[in-house]
Amino acid sequence: MSDNSNQQAAPQSEQPLSHDDIRNFLPAKNCLDGKTILVTGAGDGIGRVAALTYARYGATVLLLGRTSSKLEYVYDEIESFGGKQPAMLPMNLEGATYAEMQQLEGLIHKEVGQLDGLLHNAGMLGQLTPLEMYDVDTFAQVMKVNFTATFMLTQALLPLLKDADNGSVVFTSSSVGTHPRAFWGAYALSKQAVEGMSDIFTQETQNTTNLRFNCINPGGTRTNMRAHAFPGENPMSLKTPEDIMGGYVCLMSDESIGVRGQVVALQPKD
Ligand code: NAP
Repeated sequence: MSDNSNQQAAPQSEQPLSHDDIRNFLPAKNCLDGKTILVTGAGDGIGRVAALTYARYGATVLLLGRTSSKLEYVYDEIESFGGKQPAMLPMNLEGATYAEMQQLEGLIHKEVGQLDGLLHNAGMLGQLTPLEMYDVDTFAQVMKVNFTATFMLTQALLPLLKDADNGSVVFTSSSVGTHPRAFWGAYALSKQAVEGMSDIFTQETQNTTNLRFNCINPGGTRTNMRAHAFPGENPMSLKTPEDIMGGYVCLMSDESIGVRGQVVALQPKD
């Protein structure tokens, strides 16, 4: 936790890390010691591995997700390797209200006392179909989970994040968030909106706070979502979530202080 000096932006004396530095980052043992990091979609896929990895590097991890049994499993895994005691925050982002997110902020403030990192990882694919045929209810659902809830949760947690010494918010984008692609509909549009939101938050905060905002594009990674999007693909040809964790740790660690408003593609050739 910090004093009022946090309200000033950090001096930008050293050259910030390049995207290659972030992709190839080799975390030092305990480099997240003392940090509390909330991960959304922490029960499965990349989010599960990110939560485990943050805990392995010393962070206290707050596990947010919609399926309690999956969160319990991750909780037990962290306990089994002696990580700091995590907390489970069951929340379905599709139906979650802003009031519930503010209550969550109050709960973290009371029970944990700090929040240094927020990884927005939860996401849903929706339909792969032309916009002309896209089901409008599914469109709204995808936009809520991937974008609107991400905005709401960020805003609700800002008081805690701004109070951190060197807070970091990491949004999850996708290649179709940077370059629109036919048939990817609401998913692509939601990721473009996320990239825009990260940029706007950066512009609005960079002169007044140490809090930094960046996007990660994990690239094609062996998860359930990827298998649904590309059913004909050989999953063994893909990197695993474990393979790309250097970048996820880097953007949460103090090594990335000074990195702001970036969209970091962890597999740039994907
Ligand atoms: P995944 O295996 O499908 O995992 C998605 C996670 O999000 C799950 O934990 C899921 O919870 C959670 N989630 C979905 N809807 C939710 C809701 N309404 N409320 C709360 N949590 C919800 O997907 P992934 O591949 O790990 O993707 C993680 C992120 O990376 C996503 O933002 C995705 O867009 C992005 N991404 C992935 C790839 C890739 O190749 N895998 C590429 C580019 C970007 P449940 O398990 O309980 O359903």
